[in-house]
Amino acid sequence: MRSRILLLATIMAAAAAFPQSAPVVLKVSTLLDGRGNVLHNTSITVQDGKITSVGDGASGAATYDLTGLTVMPGWIDTHVHIDWHFGPDGTITSQRGETPERAMLEIAGNAWKTLQAGFTTVQAVGSMRDKPLRDAINGGQVPGPRILTSLEQITNPGRGANPQPGATPHDLSPDELRAWVRQVKAEGADEIKIFASTGLGSGGKPTMTQEQLDAACGEARAQGLRSVIHAFGQAVGMAARAGCTSVEHGLMATDDDLRAMAEHHTYFDPQLCLVFQNYIDNAQHYPNLSPESLKTLHDAMPQADELLQRAMKVPGLKIVFGTDAVAGADGRNAEEFVCRVRDGHQPAMQAMVAAQSLAAESLGLSGQLGAIAPGMQADIIALAGDPLRDIAAVRRVVFVMKGGVIYRNDVPAPRTR
Ligand SMILES: [Zn+2]
Repeated sequence: MRSRILLLATIMAAAAAFPQSAPVVLKVSTLLDGRGNVLHNTSITVQDGKITSVGDGASGAATYDLTGLTVMPGWIDTHVHIDWHFGPDGTITSQRGETPERAMLEIAGNAWKTLQAGFTTVQAVGSMRDKPLRDAINGGQVPGPRILTSLEQITNPGRGANPQPGATPHDLSPDELRAWVRQVKAEGADEIKIFASTGLGSGGKPTMTQEQLDAACGEARAQGLRSVIHAFGQAVGMAARAGCTSVEHGLMATDDDLRAMAEHHTYFDPQLCLVFQNYIDNAQHYPNLSPESLKTLHDAMPQADELLQRAMKVPGLKIVFGTDAVAGADGRNAEEFVCRVRDGHQPAMQAMVAAQSLAAESLGLSGQLGAIAPGMQADIIALAGDPLRDIAAVRRVVFVMKGGVIYRNDVPAPRTR
């Protein structure tokens, strides 16, 4: 017994004495710091998964030369459905009949595609299948973005955006909602997702009362969890007044609803194109979408452009970046930047920050993610091109580091003279 203790002590001493990994120096000519600043001709030093310094590692030899590229913090998508995928016959409906093993491989594939596209963190909203994926990624077994997940979606039975077939519509009591929030927390969720209105096709009417939203978002806050609310129209202002953390979608919101979000410090996550266009482009893979639904999705895009333009005029309203990426859209999340800038007229720097420091703030992770600064996680990407001049450069991610590990390096070798 004594020798075993001695052996354990020796191993622990060896672990403690194990030297830190050698620093990695990235040489950079253009750096967006994630907080709205541009730095030129600098360097980033990374050690043990974190950024240790910016600007004073230049004297040493560069480990990776990223000059000629635009370097920035990895993007954060605050609204994805990473478990959605097409099943064995290529349709969304056939995933119900597939094996769990095939499903998890498809889902792991979505995580890989998302990471390769420069998204180093995503908030899934959310499914029980996110949990093993999140934990496998955190454990280093599977490559993918950091995942936060709601695991479930809280909704009045038979109401909400996707009412369960056969469920008798009824309202949950405030106590039942509070209990559900606590249950989702106990299951290991990172945030709470709540349906406060119907889907777009059914007019986006409120599906919860003010009292219900007050109870659900209030309990989430009491439990230390953020609350992410699916809301259109009137439900937008209701969610803000309930003190919920963020409103997703928001079409049909009035200026009063937008001002209510600013007043109550509710983050706003509108979608302009990817989610709509993805359904339209993949209509054959979504057999449950009727021609009328497709028309609704098509018509939503100009409305969303107009909504973003109105939202940008509301003082103090914090507009974050989330795509609502569903099956077919994984790895194309950055398309949403292109629409925001070209169709919604958001300044490109604002669009970047929305997916960097502002998104991190909305997730309660300001101290760790979304900026290139000492102490932050080394989530760093590089683009061939400058998105501030041509937003389409977001499609050309050539370097991806997450937590100090490089997952993509297509940086062209320097030309010999
Ligand atoms: Zn969604």
